[in-house]
Amino acid sequence: MAESTRCELCELARTTRWFAQVFEPFPFTLLECDSCDVPMAVLGEHRAAVSPQERQVMQLALEWVAKTHDLGELFFDDRMKQIPDHYHLHARVRPKWWPR
Ligand SMILES: [Zn+2]
Ligand SMILES: [Zn+2]
Repeated sequence: MAESTRCELCELARTTRWFAQVFEPFPFTLLECDSCDVPMAVLGEHRAAVSPQERQVMQLALEWVAKTHDLGELFFDDRMKQIPDHYHLHARVRPKWWPR
């Protein structure tokens, strides 16, 4: 990749906890977001969107991480404010006081 298009999520410096790297059915990494301290899934290739099926796979993987680490109830957040052109999905913990 050219210097001018360096992407933080392509380089994926290992500065936080990594939970798992998935290769099939498509590559993505499960790690702790260093700005939010929650699990997130980062797509293994540089594109801005995923298919509904791909999103489903990433959600299931994040649910597994949350369950393993006893994080409680989650909701999924793929608004990408800082890096809008590389897909990543946050699993945010649902606050207890939220209405169902
Ligand atoms: Zn990228
Ligand atoms: Zn984050």
